[in-house]
This record gives sequence, C-alpha cells and structure tokens, in this order.
Amino acid sequence: MRLLIVEDEREFAETLRKGLLAEGFTVNMAHTGPDGLWAATEHDYDVIVLDIMLPGFSGYELLKRLRAAQKWTPVLMLTAKDGEYDEADAFDLGADDYLSKPFSFVVLIARLRALLRRGAPARPTVLSSGDLRLDPAARTVYRGQKRIDLTAREFGLLEFLLRRAGSALSKNEILTHVWDAHYDGDENVVEVYVGYLRRKIDTPFGTHTIETVRGVGYRLSVS
Ligand code: CA
Repeated sequence: MRLLIVEDEREFAETLRKGLLAEGFTVNMAHTGPDGLWAATEHDYDVIVLDIMLPGFSGYELLKRLRAAQKWTPVLMLTAKDGEYDEADAFDLGADDYLSKPFSFVVLIARLRALLRRGAPARPTVLSSGDLRLDPAARTVYRGQKRIDLTAREFGLLEFLLRRAGSALSKNEILTHVWDAHYDGDENVVEVYVGYLRRKIDTPFGTHTIETVRGVGYRLSVS
C-alpha cells in the first residue's frame, strides 16, 4: 500500500515513515503544502496522512484543492488539540478521518487500515434545496437549469448554509466558519453577503431559500 505523509516536522515525519515501513507500507513524504499537493495529484496513493499546519498553505487548503482536482484518495488528517481548527472542519473539507496529536502509533495503523478497507471515498454528493444545487467538487451552483455565478465567499457561505440546512445559524457561527478564523471585523458582513446571495439565488426566481431567524441569524430551508 502506497502512502503519502505531508508533515513539516521532519523528525516526527521520519519516525512515522519508519514505523509505517515496518508495517509494510510504501511511504513517500512531503514537507510543505505545495509539495504535498503536487505529490498527491501526480501520484496515486492509497491513503494520505495530512498535517494541518504546513508551510506554503495549510493541510485544509491542500485537501480543498485536491478534491477540487477530483482526486478522491482517502485522507487522514492530523489535528492538534490546541489548534484553531477542529474535527468538524476536517470532515467539512472532505477528510475521511482524523487523529488528534499526540496519538498512539497503534491507533494510527488501525485507522489507516480501516480507511484502506473502505477504499476511495465516494464523490461528495451535490448539496441541494429545492431546485437549487451546489456541487462542492465542481464548484458550480444551479437553480433548475440556470447556472449561477458566485464569488468564492458567496460560494463558501452558500455551501455552509446548505450543509447545515434546516438549522438556525447565528451570524457569529457563520462568520467563524466562512470567514478567516482571524477575521475580526463586523458581524454585519454576514448580513451583507446574505443579501448578495439572495439577490443571486432567490430574488430572480421568486424563492425564499435563506430565511431570516429573528434574534438568531439565518436558516436555509430544507426543501
Ligand atoms: Ca505542522
């Protein structure tokens, strides 16, 4: 089984590599986001062990770009407990499993074997509400037959709302997930972007997909 480790802490990566070799894996390593993405795109690995904090760009960014490139290699993400990201983010972005550092090597092997048994993940399903459809992999949005062009931020916002369709979401929750973790601007930016989205996905079609929940924030209707 061919495995790629993307981890910038070289000593740690080397320890992992030796252990995995002993378990019979063929192991390649990359130490930066761009190198990892290149390796993962150019070669066919059976599984990828991906660290989050990497030079160049993060493991999250790598995963996003990998899936956008239609590569469905199973990914096990290494998350740090004190990190700014959590497991929910890892799954949202298409990781197939995650392990919090520090972890035991025995657990890592068990998780990797489980991932390998499961095989390549299915292409993520298209998210929809009524005749509104968003394809996370192709990064397209359609209302019926009509294609809707969204900016990256609008797309991210709509994807987040669709993934949590039916739940009332506070502006703060939306801000945390859709904007940069370090964004410290006004919450009203959410209102502004919901306005942009409505003008593209609802107003021209006479639909009300994004509801305002008074005193809370917003909810995307389920059907
Ligand atoms: Ca790291």
